[in-house]
Amino acid sequence: MARSKTRTSTPQARILQTMSDMEKRYSNGEITVVWKPEKCLHAARCIAGLPKVFDVNRRPWVDMSGASTAEITRVVDTCPSGALTWEKE
Ligand code: SF4
Repeated sequence: MARSKTRTSTPQARILQTMSDMEKRYSNGEITVVWKPEKCLHAARCIAGLPKVFDVNRRPWVDMSGASTAEITRVVDTCPSGALTWEKE
C-alpha cells in the first residue's frame, strides 16, 4: 500500500529542531552571554567556576550581576561544549 504523502518531519523531529534553534541571552550592559541548551554537556564548569552567576536552582539560571565582566568571560570561555558564549555589546 503506497502512501499518498510522505512526512518529512515527525513531531519529535520538530521538537528537536525547535530546541536546536533555542538560545537564551543574558546581558549586563557590557556583554551578552548566550546559552544554547542543546549543546550543553552538563559538565558544570560554569556552575563550579562562578556559582553566583550560574545556578541551575534559580530562574533565570544566569545572574549577570553576580560577578564582573572579566570573571564572567573567563568562566564562559571554559565551557567545553560551546553552549555558553559571550558577545561584546
Ligand atoms: S560549562 Fe557549558 S557545557 Fe558545562 S554545564 Fe555550563 S553551559 Fe553546560
